[in-house]
Amino acid sequence: MKKIGLIIALLLAASAATTQAAPTPPPQAKGVLKTAAGESIGNVLFTQGMDGTVFVSVSAKGLPQGEHGLSVREKGACTPDFNAAGAAVPTDLPALNVTGSNVSLNATTKTVAVSGGSGANLLDADGSAVVITANKDENAKAACAVLEAVPVPAPAAEAANATQASVTIKNAVGDDVGTGTFTQNSDGTVRVQVSVRGLPAGDHGIHVHQFGQCAPTFGAAGEHHNPTNSHHGPNNPAPPKPHSGDLPNLTVAADGSGTLDTTSTVFTLSASDTTILDSDGSALVIHANPDDLASDPSGNSGARIACGVIQASAAAAPTAVPATAVPATAVPGTAAPATAAPATAAPAVTPTQPAGGVPGQLPNTGAPRPDWLLWSLLAFAALTAGLFTRRAVRR
Ligand code: ZN
Repeated sequence: MKKIGLIIALLLAASAATTQAAPTPPPQAKGVLKTAAGESIGNVLFTQGMDGTVFVSVSAKGLPQGEHGLSVREKGACTPDFNAAGAAVPTDLPALNVTGSNVSLNATTKTVAVSGGSGANLLDADGSAVVITANKDENAKAACAVLEAVPVPAPAAEAANATQASVTIKNAVGDDVGTGTFTQNSDGTVRVQVSVRGLPAGDHGIHVHQFGQCAPTFGAAGEHHNPTNSHHGPNNPAPPKPHSGDLPNLTVAADGSGTLDTTSTVFTLSASDTTILDSDGSALVIHANPDDLASDPSGNSGARIACGVIQASAAAAPTAVPATAVPATAVPGTAAPATAAPATAAPAVTPTQPAGGVPGQLPNTGAPRPDWLLWSLLAFAALTAGLFTRRAVRR
């Protein structure tokens, strides 16, 4: 009986090792803001952080000048008219102050939640909407967006051992405002060179963010790249620090141009726990204000004013995984299909979640894992069992 227990224990260990899921992106809800005439005028995005804080990003164009009410509504409906969205859910969201043709707003709140959390669930059974009221007049609703769950971001083109990457940085209206290169040195550190133009003068926070996404709004980039679950900033009083995506401030001169040339010792390009070329990619984000390099969660660097998806530069093709070494009948679910791409390749199709779906149940887009571990443990179990049996016979 002893050996059966041992084999079960080893099998459990093996299955735990082989079914580990890929890192799950944070829950997100998005919506397209439309006027009563059905014209799309902007986007809203809610991204929930690990501590339950929800990052709210709104961008819109063509709204009348002045202060507008921004509210979350009880129901996920904007038709036949915006009253279908129902009553406002109490939130602490700020007003939307329109002073030009485009307006953007970045705020955080804990009064709503995308999944779990203590706030009102945006993706509950009857959904939710966001309504912008003209000049804060409840009866004059200027725009409405039905919220839906954001599907898991399409994994970036992952280069297992890339040592170079680049980024094109754009502002909120899509103009190119800069470029950046990432070059991994032989000691594993990464030189980061960024050059920008057309940005407001002064110091700006700049960070590598957790997802390779800048759309529909820069909020899609998620939070700072932080696979080690550390505190923000090299001067943060609380260890461990800093985030792997933290960088020194970018200084922009009066003419709008600026450069940053620094070497990061806290992330890599090649495969590692802190690589920024992970399965969900990364983005470089420039903020409106300087980063204090010391305070959680993100150094008070304010709104996101520019963003670029970091792309691995052409490097050696990922090493192909040898044709499945285990029998075709082995361990359903973990065996790679015959047509499987190399282990580092991303699945081509990202399953779409239905609106109002369960955001916690994200499809596992992780690459198939090798089964060699399971098989070596099985072999070990068999050998050990044989040994035990022989000892028992001798006794
Ligand atoms: Zn940070």
